[in-house]
Amino acid sequence: MEIRRHALLSPSVGTHRELLSFHYGTPGAGQKVYLQASLHADELPGMLVLHHLKQRLAVLEAQGLLRGEVVVVPVANPIGLDQTLMHGQLGRFEFASSENFNRHYPDFLALLGEGIAARLGQDAEANKRAIRAAMGDALGRIKPATELQSLRQILVSLAYDADVVLDLHCDFEAVLHVYTETPCLEQAEPLCRYLGAQAVLLAKGSGGASFDEALSGHWWQLAERHAGRYPIPQACFSATVELRGNTDVYHPVAAQDADNLIAFLQHRGVVAGDPPAMPAALCEATPLAGSETLHAPHAGVVAFHRQAGDYIEAGEVVVDVIDPLTDTVTSVTASVSGVLYARGIVRYATTGMDLCKVAGKVAFRSGYLLSA
Ligand SMILES: [Zn+2]
Repeated sequence: MEIRRHALLSPSVGTHRELLSFHYGTPGAGQKVYLQASLHADELPGMLVLHHLKQRLAVLEAQGLLRGEVVVVPVANPIGLDQTLMHGQLGRFEFASSENFNRHYPDFLALLGEGIAARLGQDAEANKRAIRAAMGDALGRIKPATELQSLRQILVSLAYDADVVLDLHCDFEAVLHVYTETPCLEQAEPLCRYLGAQAVLLAKGSGGASFDEALSGHWWQLAERHAGRYPIPQACFSATVELRGNTDVYHPVAAQDADNLIAFLQHRGVVAGDPPAMPAALCEATPLAGSETLHAPHAGVVAFHRQAGDYIEAGEVVVDVIDPLTDTVTSVTASVSGVLYARGIVRYATTGMDLCKVAGKVAFRSGYLLSA
């Protein structure tokens, strides 16, 4: 295993941060897998999972059982990890810019431009190599101007040529769920089954230039643009894995998640040996555009009737919002049927606040599909 240290652009006199990446196996000996945790720095289940995964990878490497390269970044956001305000850790948005740490990643389709066509031919493998080389060139031309931009460039530079990219996040109170792009679904299914995902949410570009979509999106976009002329594979399977809720940080759960990730790596052929039998899927994939967010109709105390993981029928009451001055109790119902896969953690709602999310089967939203 090799540890590499990457210096972030210094934001201020006397201050330097760095990002550490852990490299297992042998580059070029097989597929490359990239895993990172806590890009939203206050989402910590993934950090513990990667702590456990590192121990397993070290043993597998010592036994000569790695068939490719696995890159692990357990602390993907040293900037956000250091943001504390009035005793609370705030790791989703950068204090300096107010930007979400998981937005504004490079648009490789635009960066590669029309010029990439001249480097393509009839061999899908050669096209994959040509596109990755062009991505590397494009990344090298980006000159970050801020510490946050340099963090984004370092993360993408570590991941851009990976066959599999897993970005480990969590929600507030949630069951394990996965976001991926529709063209990645076939590659996502084994991961979702090994991890026991209870919701799988699909989109073709959700609009936020998130880390996972920056790495997978241009592959299917180029394949569509050049359909019938040049074969272009979906050479990067990228997913955002939501490891339950903020406080679901426990050794037994994280150790099981790490075991499940190793099983997935065995299935991909990156770890030698037969993978354990693949569990049955716990859900069908549903469109992200079919996910309904329930909102507070007025301010008040939030009292949930239903738990994360419950199946909700359209029209069922999920949560009440109570104004204790007027004793108004307003029941909030879902308009779609599906799994209640995530709830908010705040129990006082301001008017319009997000309360929870239900994974409906039929797309009804369009445009920008992500939360702030
Ligand atoms: Zn997150």
